[in-house]
Amino acid sequence: MAKAGCPYASKCGGCDYQGIDYIEQLRIKQDHIDGLLGSFCKPQKIIGMKDPLYYRCKATVEYTHLKDGSYISGVYEKNSHRIVKVDECLITDKHANDIAMTIRALLKSFKIKTYNEDTGYGLLRHVQIRVGKNTGEVMVILVVADPIFPSKNNFVKALRARHPEITTVVLNVNDKHTTMVLGERNIPIYGKGFIFDTLLGMKFKISPGSFYQVNPVQTEVLYKTAVDYAGLTGNETVLDAYSGTGTIGLIAAGSARDVISVELNENAVKDAIANAKANGVGNIRFYRADATEFMTSHEIGKVDVVFMDPPRTGSTPEFIDAVAKLKPSKVIYVSCDPETLKRDLGIFAKKGYKTRRIQPVDMFGFTKHVEVCCLLEQLKSTNSPEKEVYYESGNGQGFQRKCIYRSQ
Ligand code: SAH
Repeated sequence: MAKAGCPYASKCGGCDYQGIDYIEQLRIKQDHIDGLLGSFCKPQKIIGMKDPLYYRCKATVEYTHLKDGSYISGVYEKNSHRIVKVDECLITDKHANDIAMTIRALLKSFKIKTYNEDTGYGLLRHVQIRVGKNTGEVMVILVVADPIFPSKNNFVKALRARHPEITTVVLNVNDKHTTMVLGERNIPIYGKGFIFDTLLGMKFKISPGSFYQVNPVQTEVLYKTAVDYAGLTGNETVLDAYSGTGTIGLIAAGSARDVISVELNENAVKDAIANAKANGVGNIRFYRADATEFMTSHEIGKVDVVFMDPPRTGSTPEFIDAVAKLKPSKVIYVSCDPETLKRDLGIFAKKGYKTRRIQPVDMFGFTKHVEVCCLLEQLKSTNSPEKEVYYESGNGQGFQRKCIYRSQ
């Protein structure tokens, strides 16, 4: 099994497990999850990658020119803005690696100056390459300090002559003094300015800045697990919270009555709407909101199944409390940070949700990160089925719910 003796590992710092056999990496991750989450229920065996190399479909590449007129490209050294020269990243898609090297050569022949963060002088700040693994479409994003890119048409022509797989090239204008990679303005200089990829037979739009899982092969495994856990029959109302570009909700929509999707990032929501249209999905509603704010200040109605896929910081006690009040029979929690997952499963447990399944999925080989999909079910008390009768009183400012009867 792959060990990937990456020559840049000590300086780059992107991979914690370089030099460790892949099977051993999986064992380390399994032990970590078993130790952390085993008190909720016994975690399933981690689903590893068939091929743990060259899996990342997104690369952010840094360039700089040296005094002798040569150019280097690579990544920032850990915790610094010094560039480590990298000719090939062993976990990045091969097309992306090759394109990064071609751009390095073209910068020299087109005499394009790289941006200097200290002086603010120069044009090219970063390059992002995004690959639709299943469609073969490729987007190159040239992040520039100024929208005027000399000889841009010839640059694109030379780039595409070497890489006909590139379907779009975008100038992203980032003229701010910032450590954020992308600026707000995108100018397509070739193609449509976005690409599509497919997951489980559905099309998903990827535009500059929009979130898309970096390992599409394992993302399919993850989403399939999540949707299988939901056990949808076609009659359910489903909530997809922290929904990004709508992926999980859109995949679930075919097996549910309707889907409510909530996401904070405006561009992600725009892409999610485009994704619903591209796939002809009509039974989904999108809300752009903070998930906690949405849950605590909107009358949502009956929800049968909740999918939630929060960022590393996890969810909030208020969100979990609001979910529990909706009494969905199942919650499917997808997490990229087992520590915050543990915290949140603990809160769910106090609200009467038992963790029934814990499925780790390795999406990030050679790094310490691990994704986990959990199935939680609402506990039903067996000897005294809980009966609650509510009345709803309108007071002009929404409804107040009060419990007026509960059987013992
Ligand atoms: N389910 C999606 C996205 C998961 S990533 C997928 O699998 O592709 C987590 C998402 O949560 C991101 O899209 C991020 O923008 C969103 N997010 C972060 N904080 C949020 C908040 N407070 N409320 C709603 N969404 C939030």
